[in-house]
Amino acid sequence: MARNPKHDILLEPIGFGPKTSRNRFWQTSHCTGYGSERPGTQARFRAMKAEGGWGVVCTEFCSIHPESDEYPWHSARLWDQGDIINLGYMCDEVHRHQSLAGVQLWYNGMHSPCLESREVPRGPSGLPSNVFPERAVYDATADEDDIKAIINMYVLAAQRAEQAGFDIVEVTGSDSTLPMQFLERRYNRRTDRYGGSLANRSRFYIEVMAALKRAVGDALAVTTRFETDTINGEFRVQHHDEGLHFVELMHREGVCDLWAVKIGDYEEWGEDAGSSRFRQTNWMRPFVSHVKAIVGPAVPVVSNGRFTSPDDMVEALRRGQCDIIGAARPSIADPFLPAKIAAGRLEDIRECIGCNLCVSRMQQQALLSCTQNPTSGEEYRRGWHPEQFDQTANPCSVLVVGAGPAGMECAMVLGKRGYTVHLRDCAPELGGHWRDVARYPRCSEFGRVISYRQSQLAKLRNVEVQLGVSPMTADEVLQYGADKVVIATGAHWSTVGLGAEVHRPIHGADASRASVLTPEQIMRGKEVPGERVVVLDGEGYFTGIAMAELLADRGKQVTLVTNMNDVAEFSKYTMELANNKRMLHQKHIRHLTNHWAHAFEPRRLALFYLYRDSAELNELEPGRWGRRSSNALVYLDCDALVLVTSRVPNGELYAQLKSRRAEWQKNAVQAVYRIGDCHAPRQILNAIFDGHRLAREFDSPHPQYPLPFIRERQVWGHETFPKRGDARPSVEVS
Ligand code: ADP
Ligand code: SF4
Repeated sequence: MARNPKHDILLEPIGFGPKTSRNRFWQTSHCTGYGSERPGTQARFRAMKAEGGWGVVCTEFCSIHPESDEYPWHSARLWDQGDIINLGYMCDEVHRHQSLAGVQLWYNGMHSPCLESREVPRGPSGLPSNVFPERAVYDATADEDDIKAIINMYVLAAQRAEQAGFDIVEVTGSDSTLPMQFLERRYNRRTDRYGGSLANRSRFYIEVMAALKRAVGDALAVTTRFETDTINGEFRVQHHDEGLHFVELMHREGVCDLWAVKIGDYEEWGEDAGSSRFRQTNWMRPFVSHVKAIVGPAVPVVSNGRFTSPDDMVEALRRGQCDIIGAARPSIADPFLPAKIAAGRLEDIRECIGCNLCVSRMQQQALLSCTQNPTSGEEYRRGWHPEQFDQTANPCSVLVVGAGPAGMECAMVLGKRGYTVHLRDCAPELGGHWRDVARYPRCSEFGRVISYRQSQLAKLRNVEVQLGVSPMTADEVLQYGADKVVIATGAHWSTVGLGAEVHRPIHGADASRASVLTPEQIMRGKEVPGERVVVLDGEGYFTGIAMAELLADRGKQVTLVTNMNDVAEFSKYTMELANNKRMLHQKHIRHLTNHWAHAFEPRRLALFYLYRDSAELNELEPGRWGRRSSNALVYLDCDALVLVTSRVPNGELYAQLKSRRAEWQKNAVQAVYRIGDCHAPRQILNAIFDGHRLAREFDSPHPQYPLPFIRERQVWGHETFPKRGDARPSVEVS
């Protein structure tokens, strides 16, 4: 299908400073965990976006000096020659596809734990970090010599960036980094010319930009990422107050070639990476528009907002909100988003669902992966390309039983690789358990997991989808006539309260009773009796809190009980925890942490506190040490109990087939594999990855078990950069 001419504007080139982007698609800097230490993964991940049409591709936050060190979270780094070599590979790869490479220069002052470098960060006022309050992280107050030294750090890092081949140096003035620490009244207690008035507090930021313009501005674009509102109140940056006034001040100095605008600071960066549970596409529009109005037509503005629809993007450009569409998550979910828009292939766009599992990987100090795009992060180490699939040399017929996320993904990739696939499910629709999930409060965008795969499967003539069939038995599978079988029968919520806390059923918690319910039963319409409901949450992600909200919206008095330290504890990784708590507060949902259920009695739930036993160890009997145990219980009156305790694999079909292995040959069945939640019920991104990987490696010797991938680490005996005793360029001025 040809491109709609109204989308042409997205493909127009645009200049800023000495550089021109070939189009209006800008992959804003976003965390990955790949850093400078995994050069292959970094380069091939970013290069895929350049290949897919992103005119500008940036690194994640990139430390300019060992004083800014957030290990074990992995930033990129431009500390030395080794980093120049490693990030230089990324630049080469990005340039191969005619895109520009940007690097985000990052010095984090008081929020630098320096757990690897052991150096002391400098900052405006020598205060403890509010981001790491439990770790005793402080900065040292910078005098004017220190300030000059830090500005030198930026300049030297920018020169290293130029050596590596970067086109753009972006000063991060966002996420509570040093420029913001000087700007914000809560951090800046200075009485010299870097403190006090807004003009004084802006001085450091503007001096950094001016120094970069002087040092590298003829060759590189010097830009910034700035938050106009930290979204957390007094003494911080507020949009209509100091946020916009700062933009006016800096713009007047003429030191910034382009502005990338956002909201939210380090503590509230969930307002920048807004999840779809709380923020709709383009939620930052009002903030960004005001910046565009100040800087005028000559200085481009980049706006993010989880844009996946070209119509929304064009509207943002036409309404004067911005000149360039920025994206992190949409570019992860579909590196080929621009290319698909350019080709008019809108139905092939793999839209981000806003689940923030990508963010959660970084927040767990791990490596980025994505729910929608299982190839992200696998471009180098497994050699996967999101749009290219090796045709199988051994075509055969494959029966996939179960059309949940894992089964759909597996059938789709097998289909793209040239296998003849039958995807069968006893449910009348595709999607498995994810159909329920997409109907939970706030989770409608999650439905894109199903709709994308549904439309791709419909295009594959060698994949036959059969829905609403009777549940397949082992006999039927064996006699079906397929050469190979993939079991993707999913999982169900425990109906007896099995959970990670005690690993055994909870007395009286039996979902065959009217007063005990699982999420599946609630979504299928089982009536929730009475007024008072307890949701027992052992998952800690979105299911428990979604059940609590759904029932509160129905007028129930809800209490959320969890064994974890916090409600929906996993959501601290997806940056949703604060808004989850705000929602609970607004909807009068009570909560109790560090408790688990002992027994469900008529109209009351007996709970125990996880730490009720003694702190002291006692010799209970000769040779046997233990704690003095307590049987203390607390009681919650309730009419109904919702069990969100753990998921149990639907593993019977696979087990039966496995036990009848002797019959495979006579039925011409060569192999039976299992994927997704019936294998192990983990998070959605793992179920999809599982289905994808099996299909990619389907003709390997043992496809059930993954092939090795490239591990990037220093191999003993090879060169290091720098070496012990090497000089470090001095940044000090006197
Ligand atoms: P996953 O997340 O691993 O993809 P889901 O639970 O979402 O798992 O999906 C599993 C799907 O398998 C469901 O749609 C269910 O109806 C289907 N299913 C389970 N057992 C059978 C069976 N014996 N025959 C056909 N379909 C089945
Ligand atoms: Fe979007 Fe989720 Fe993928 Fe992140 S993990 S890019 S939020 S689909």
